[in-house]
Order: sequence, then structure tokens, then C-alpha cells
Amino acid sequence: MPATAIPRLLDHYRRTARDLPWRTPPGSDKTPDPYKVWLSEIMLQQTTVATVTPRYWRFLERWPTVDDLAAAPLEEVLAEWAGLGYYARARNLHLCAKQVAALGGFPNTEARLRALPGIGDYTAAAIASIAFGETATVVDTNVERIVARLHAIPRPIKNVRPKIRALAADLFADGHAGDIAQALMDLGATICRPKAPRCDQCPLAAVCKAHASGTPEAYPPKPAKKDRPERHGTAWIIEQDEAIFLVRRPGKGLLGGMAALPGSDWQDGPPVQAGSLAVRHVFTHFALTLRLESRATPPDEMEGWWQPISHLDAAGLPTLYVKAIEAWRALEREAALIA
Ligand code: SF4
Repeated sequence: MPATAIPRLLDHYRRTARDLPWRTPPGSDKTPDPYKVWLSEIMLQQTTVATVTPRYWRFLERWPTVDDLAAAPLEEVLAEWAGLGYYARARNLHLCAKQVAALGGFPNTEARLRALPGIGDYTAAAIASIAFGETATVVDTNVERIVARLHAIPRPIKNVRPKIRALAADLFADGHAGDIAQALMDLGATICRPKAPRCDQCPLAAVCKAHASGTPEAYPPKPAKKDRPERHGTAWIIEQDEAIFLVRRPGKGLLGGMAALPGSDWQDGPPVQAGSLAVRHVFTHFALTLRLESRATPPDEMEGWWQPISHLDAAGLPTLYVKAIEAWRALEREAALIA
């Protein structure tokens, strides 16, 4: 990579940096708060800036410091996380906050950050470089795509990760790792986008081999698609006196510890019954069709609670169950109109 590429990238970042609530503007004297950097990085995993921003403010308002978050009950943290998906993040967030509070603050090196729950290679490098100025190699999907394009690597990213990491390390080798990481995040989000990269606005165009090829979007090539497995389950709608019966899912596994509608396990294979009202929800590794069934009362041994329908938001239901209840209530409204 020519020596001029990084100064050009940093200059572009200083002029065009996105104004994000967790970010200290480039050139500012203020040191970024590791709590805010950490919180935003965890929230931004698999979730867009537009979705995260209002939720980030709400989190900070409720728990302004890592000590406040550590002292909060897990159920409240999970409820506040509702709708953001990937709920293991919220459980790890809480566990991590407890460990950080016990340590008296965030560790300031990539290696020690990586030892905390929910902090992987990328997040540890991002916090270490942005909040503590450590020279770390920050590689997320944006950086992978940019590096694959800069070098016109003709293979899918999943087949060349060590090579991409080694090439990315060159970008971070001469210091300013925090600004370089944020510059690449911005570049990946606004210019070197997965589709239709805006090479005419890119500070790295002069050194980019994918751009020189004339077909930058062809890099990195996509891997062959695998079919997503289908699963099926039943959820029970149990309503009494303007309240709906909810349960808490087991602490471990998908949607672990979250509020939920009671119902059957989710199973592979064809649906047991067809034709009744159902909602479909696509998770990362499978698609679920959840059939909805009315019941008069919960089974005797079932633990749960009656949630007033007027305060359904406060239950912290994941999107799957919000969709299911909305579909059910729409059907009820339709039936009332016909009657
Ligand atoms: S020149 Fe185009 S393909 Fe290359 S890094 Fe910039 S935006 Fe991406």
C-alpha cells in the first residue's frame, strides 16, 4: 500500500466523519469513554446505526455508567434490549458490566478486553484502539470488504480470513488505529458499500485494485448460498380480563431469558397442522413458522404472569412474539367487524 494512502484516508475522515452519539469527533481533546464505545460496539453488532441510535440514548439515560448497568436486574436489561435481537448480546453485556465494575473499570489492552464476556477479537480491538489509543487491528465485515477490494482478492472472504487480517494489519501498523478504524467504518457504511460502491468519492481509489478492474462490486465474490432450514412451533394465546399470559424462556439458548408466549418447542420438518393463523420469522440460522392457537387457561404447572395488554411494551417481548400478538389481535379485530 503506498505511503500516501493512510494520510489520505485520515484526512478524508477528519473532513467527513459521521456525527455519532458515542463518538468523539476526530481531532477532539476529549478522550472517548470506554463504556460508551463498548456499549455502542455491542449494540451495533448485526444492527444498523439508525436502529441503534435511539436505543443507545435510552440505555445511557437509564444506566449512565457501567456500575449502574452492573447493578441492574438482568430482566430489566433484557426488557430494554427487546427488539434489538441477538439476545445473547444483552446477557453478555450484563455479565461483562458486572466484571468490569468488579475490576474498577475497563481494562485498557486488547488482550485483557478480549477476556471479558461478549467481547470478541473485533470488539476488543475497537475498544482498545478507539478508547485507549492502542495499536490494534480492527477487522469487521466493512474492513474485510474494503481490504478484499483494495487487493482485488478473487475468493470469498470466509476462505481467506487470515490473509485479509494480515493485509488489514498493514493499515493499522503506523498508529492512529482508533481514527483509522472509525474512518474505515465510515468508508464501508457510506462509500465502499456492499452494493454500488462510490469509488468516485473514495480517498483510496488511487490504490484500489478492484476499482482499477472496472468492476469493484464483483469483489469480494459471494460464497454459494445454503438453504436456510425451516422450523415449526406453536404459540398459545391465553387471554383473560384484558391481560395475556406470558412466560420467561430458559436462560440459555435462542431468546434466552426473554419474555415469550407459552407454546411448544420448535422443531425441524413439516408443520404438524396447517391452515391456522401463523407468523413467520427469520433467524440467522433458520426460519420459524409459529402457529397461533387460542387457549382458555395456562397449564396448571406452568410458571408465568398476566401482562396487561395495555402495558405489553413493558414486557420486553422479542420481535417474534410482538409480531405474533399483533397478528392475533388483527384477526380478532377483523372477526369483531364481521360480527
Ligand atoms: S475505490 Fe471503490 S472499491 Fe475501492 S475501496 Fe474505494 S469505494 Fe471501495
